[in-house]
Amino acid sequence: MNSSDFPILKEKIYNSDLVYLDNAATTQKPQVVIDAISYAYSHFNANVHRGVHHLSQLATKHHENARKKVGDFLGTDNPSEIIFTKGTTDSINLLAFSLGEEFIKTGDEIVVSALEHHSNIVPWQMLCKRKQARLKVIPLKTDLSIDIDAFKSLLTEKTKIVSIAHVSNVLGIINPIEEIIRIAHSRGILVCVDAAQSAPHLPINVKSIDCDFLAFSAHKIYGPTGVGVLYGKQELLSKIPPYQGGGEMISHVSFDHTTYNELPYKFEAGTPDFIGSFALAKALDYLQEIGVEKVKNHEAELIDYAQAELKKIEGVIIYALSLPKAGVISFNIKDQHPYDVGMLLDQQGVAVRTGHHCAEPLIDLLCVPGTIRLSVALYNSKEDIDKFVSALKKALLLLRK
Ligand code: PMP
Repeated sequence: MNSSDFPILKEKIYNSDLVYLDNAATTQKPQVVIDAISYAYSHFNANVHRGVHHLSQLATKHHENARKKVGDFLGTDNPSEIIFTKGTTDSINLLAFSLGEEFIKTGDEIVVSALEHHSNIVPWQMLCKRKQARLKVIPLKTDLSIDIDAFKSLLTEKTKIVSIAHVSNVLGIINPIEEIIRIAHSRGILVCVDAAQSAPHLPINVKSIDCDFLAFSAHKIYGPTGVGVLYGKQELLSKIPPYQGGGEMISHVSFDHTTYNELPYKFEAGTPDFIGSFALAKALDYLQEIGVEKVKNHEAELIDYAQAELKKIEGVIIYALSLPKAGVISFNIKDQHPYDVGMLLDQQGVAVRTGHHCAEPLIDLLCVPGTIRLSVALYNSKEDIDKFVSALKKALLLLRK
């Protein structure tokens, strides 16, 4: 599907065609996004929000249009609910700090799950340390799905926030976030969704799932690096204090007293990445022109096909085999270190990820040194999966000699 739109896919790696299956780490960029960056620097580079001159107003218009575009992509028509950040990690750090300042006190509880990325663990741990609060972890069932009964019994009147991945970056499992949000809300608990791995693969509507906060990264959804998004309900964002101080986030400054800007600028200290936001908007346009639903179905087919092909190979252990997945498969080969397999795949032009995938607690739970992770994007094809499988077979022939 549309692989010719992505110039990097024509690269040769050690004289082989590139088969890029590390999309969960970052996606490649279509020409329209690459061109957008060059266009922005060539035609409207000027600082936003504070210039009376034409270029500044043009840059501001593009930046604010990008905010509307992101809102539209996530299902909110209120651009004040869209905060531009540097990425998912930055979004969750912002939230953990600002929410923590207003809502968390000694003895309160914050809940995450056992399959989170470090970005959705460490900022909450830091908050717990700051406020003498407690981090609780939702366990997984033996099939590696979220244990909903255990989740319910974890919640107490002290639980203030649940923060959970929509899709696991290690296992690809789609978590039942709507159910989790319903359960948490029925007890007055706020929910943050880490959508880093779902936004590129699944349609998301923040209003219909009713999450309180949601974060994603542009670079994982065909956009540029260094830009991310935090969605938050306006009534909550307006109650919590700013994360960082500086220009843009103020409405008036004196040495005696400073007042803060309105939403969303209160959370956007300093010059925003207005080139990046413009390019992100182009990436979302690109994805929406193809159709998120179409991409979702195409990728689901690839995942099913890859799992079926992998299952035929002796010694392959696929994690969470029977659970619904988006974009990602993790596996190991009996008696082989994932790193060795990854290296031999790379030598044949096949890019996969090996290791703990920034989710060490989950990897510890699996009792393995790491996994081999294959992750797909809209430009991958069954042919890519075939090349990956044949490279894997060759690697195993070498390793098993
Ligand atoms: N959460 C998940 C589920 C992720 O997969 C990632 C990236 N691997 C992150 C958070 C962090 O994203 P970023 O590095 O773009 O901030």
